[in-house]
Amino acid sequence: MSDLEKDPAEVVSTGDGEGPVVELLEGREVVLGRSTKVRRLLPNKNRRMVGAWCFVDHYGPDDITHRVDSYDVPGERGMLVPPHPHTSLQTVSWLFEGEIEHRDSVGSHAYVRPGELNIMTAGNGIAHSEVSTPTAPPTLHGAQLWVALPDSVRSTTPAAFDAYADLPELELDGARVTVMVGTVAGVTSPAPAYTPLVGADVTVQPGRTLTLPLTPSNEYAVLIVDGSLTVGDLTPGFGEMVYVGAGRESVDVVASDNGVRFLLLGGEPFEEQLVMWWNFIGRSHEEIVAARDAWQAAIGAGGNDRFPMVPGYDGDPLPAPGLPAIALKPRPRAR
Ligand code: MN
Repeated sequence: MSDLEKDPAEVVSTGDGEGPVVELLEGREVVLGRSTKVRRLLPNKNRRMVGAWCFVDHYGPDDITHRVDSYDVPGERGMLVPPHPHTSLQTVSWLFEGEIEHRDSVGSHAYVRPGELNIMTAGNGIAHSEVSTPTAPPTLHGAQLWVALPDSVRSTTPAAFDAYADLPELELDGARVTVMVGTVAGVTSPAPAYTPLVGADVTVQPGRTLTLPLTPSNEYAVLIVDGSLTVGDLTPGFGEMVYVGAGRESVDVVASDNGVRFLLLGGEPFEEQLVMWWNFIGRSHEEIVAARDAWQAAIGAGGNDRFPMVPGYDGDPLPAPGLPAIALKPRPRAR
């Protein structure tokens, strides 16, 4: 009898023949809106997407108890992102700590809270605001993610903010997994997706090794939000992301002595080329110009058909920056 099945190969495809893909994606610091300092992990220089995940901002934990009317110190005043537009994408809001008030141009008014998945489908166009209210808890820590919509649905009617408060959880190898979207170890989230997509919030106890089952047709990355872990020959820590590629039946992650909490993000590689500029996604330079023109006109007119104003938001919307001098080009998911 062969004992091969006791220890199945972890990696099916490596891409370069030199072992499994384990690639560190370094974040860069960006100030979002007027107040929140974030680490932007996607788009990354060489890897713009993981599945349909095309934008990953990780922020906090920030002590926002110094909130005052002026938001002049990034990272200390909580979130104050005035109304701004989106096209051809879904926003996915996920908090580890704190609370954010959301309003949008289809009339949604909601609070984003830890453990609850909030999805906004921009489709042809939507505008929203995100604010730390005076009654929000003192610490803000979360992730703002975008999912690119495939061509067949990207110009759909914008949808009201959807909350999924009761997400499935499972226990694996000393780990607790909340399935935000898609399927992990046979457990599936009720949240809808337009392409094969996975998102999960995973906490692994100190020193434990988690063998995380994966779907070989998906590519994956992990974003560390607390503690650190070892995967392959890398030991990413807080705020770092590691791409682990596609073709795996599973991946082993070893929690540090302090444990680890990470987001697992994955999905079927997204083959459509995107033009991403500011808060817009399109397929051509002309589409981005049209979206920008419509937004600027909406600001001047107090809203228009494509971008109505955000009801209930007290303040001015965010104007779009100027377009670059050269035409924007569609880009593939990886360089
Ligand atoms: Mn937004």
